Amino acid sequence: MEKTDIGDIRSLTFGELAEAITALGEKPFRAKQLYQWMHEKLADGFDEMTNLPKELRRQLQGSCGYVHIETADRKISALDGTEKYLFRLSDGNVIESVLMRYHHGNSVCISSQVGCRMGCRFCASTIGGLTRNLLPSEMLDQIYQIQKISGERVSNVVVMGTGEPLDNYENLLRFLRLLTDEHGLHISQRNVTVSTCGIVEKIRALADEKLQITLALSLHASGQEKRRQLMPIAYKYDLRDVLDACRYYFAQTGRRITFEYSLVGGVNDTDQDARELADLLLGLNCHVNLIPVNPIRERDYVQPDRSVVLAFQKKLEQYGINATIRREMGRDIAGACGQLRKSYIEKAETKEYIVGK
Ligand code: SAH
Repeated sequence: MEKTDIGDIRSLTFGELAEAITALGEKPFRAKQLYQWMHEKLADGFDEMTNLPKELRRQLQGSCGYVHIETADRKISALDGTEKYLFRLSDGNVIESVLMRYHHGNSVCISSQVGCRMGCRFCASTIGGLTRNLLPSEMLDQIYQIQKISGERVSNVVVMGTGEPLDNYENLLRFLRLLTDEHGLHISQRNVTVSTCGIVEKIRALADEKLQITLALSLHASGQEKRRQLMPIAYKYDLRDVLDACRYYFAQTGRRITFEYSLVGGVNDTDQDARELADLLLGLNCHVNLIPVNPIRERDYVQPDRSVVLAFQKKLEQYGINATIRREMGRDIAGACGQLRKSYIEKAETKEYIVGK
């Protein structure tokens, strides 16, 4: 058999895998077995694939990279059972993921990039900039490892961790196809949410894929100027174009849009802000998720008082906009976006980070 470079085998769709395996001179059913080991039995390497001939396993070892991420740390919240995972990639970079337990099932929040280049002012994940995109297999393995380690089935996935998923579009799409494939974990498309800061042409491209996933749009302001203060991406795309893209997404998929709105004390939390937001979203089939901002050390943004948050929600509802307040989870384990990874990187330099503490 000739040596063929298959590359990142865990990122291949079943069709691609079947082609690569038959090109090696193997029977098609071997591709089925392999796919099952990789995406259903969640094997960490070829050694575990005991019903494959040793010779084939050896050959695969030589011709492809089997992506498998290592757990560097796991923290469990004493308050609500939320679990934070710190994973180490094969190149030494670290990423974080979160397991949240809800009545309706377990939800995992994954990272889509190592770092981020979008620069949102209140976000800890973007401070060090973008290091690199994650591979489809590296996105998948966050969910696979969490399901294996926790021993519990994951039913919902949100791509809301570090990174801008639509800035890693091709890998994201491949990840979504593998995640929802009936021969893999088979998570229902309706139980998957992708959150974006609003990259217009990519929202439109995703709409054209006609998947049944939920699009969450990070809005955070009801006007162009205020949005620019919080999110540099607003210099690139006009708010009207972002909303048009959201309408297009709904038209193509029939999926209601979620708008995320981080409430920042004294910045975007007044009655007028609520009224303007309601005006902006009027007639759009949507839902607003209010997130009291998680203060980060590098900025002096603060959460509004609870009464202000409740009043903001009430005002939106008065105007006929459906709004919920996001429950804060895992507060005791650096639950906020990007904080665990960041403290790991900072402390690794001084060797202060203690795993498990
Ligand atoms: N890049 C994507 C997904 C990652 S962030 C996006 O922009 O949507 C997921 C959500 O958390 C976004 O709405 C983001 O704006 C918000 N977020 C990030 N840091 C936050 C913080 N410190 N407080 C509140 N919300 C935050």
